[in-house]
Amino acid sequence: MKLIIASNNAHKVYEIKKILGNKFEEILSLREAGVDHETIEDGKTFMENSLKKAREIAEITGFAALADDSGICAHALDGAPGIYSARFAGEYKGVESDHANNALLLEKLADKKDKTAHYTCAMALVYPDGREVTAEGYMYGSIVDSPRGSAGFGYDPLFLPEGESRTVAEMTDEEKNLISHRANALKLLLSKL
Ligand code: IMP
Repeated sequence: MKLIIASNNAHKVYEIKKILGNKFEEILSLREAGVDHETIEDGKTFMENSLKKAREIAEITGFAALADDSGICAHALDGAPGIYSARFAGEYKGVESDHANNALLLEKLADKKDKTAHYTCAMALVYPDGREVTAEGYMYGSIVDSPRGSAGFGYDPLFLPEGESRTVAEMTDEEKNLISHRANALKLLLSKL
């Protein structure tokens, strides 16, 4: 079966393709499928946004669509940035956005004792006939005092998974894919198929 990943985030697409391996006949990103579409993410939860993205792409393409909505939740900030993780510091693009978001998270946590946080990933698989399969995955850990490492993306240079001495950005892609919120969500989703 052909699967379209309903995302324009190259890092996410890369991670999802690696985790899925050969579980689908063909896996295409939006770009590879020639789809130029951006979903307005106005849901109140990760899952609402994820379902909205997958439903729109399944409808537009006529193929099964897999969407990921994810972000980081700092416990001392009542779960912020949460669903606003991508635009926490404003409407920047690419690496600039990551730098601004990371700087703002460090600033907001500077005077907080509790540095614990978790990543959440809500995955939704929607088939063109309307069937829907969903799953959430998490990765728990804490935020370090300054960025470390250059792998991964987003908040990875700041995130120390529980029981680890390296941030996610200091791990290989394979190591991240064994423990990440995205991998956990996908594993659960696949177990439901
Ligand atoms: P979305 O594209 O609306 O789901 O936003 C996801 C945002 O959450 C990204 O832009 C990152 O800032 C953050 N994020 C989600 N997953 C990860 C991850 O695995 N590593 C680092 N940051 C992540």
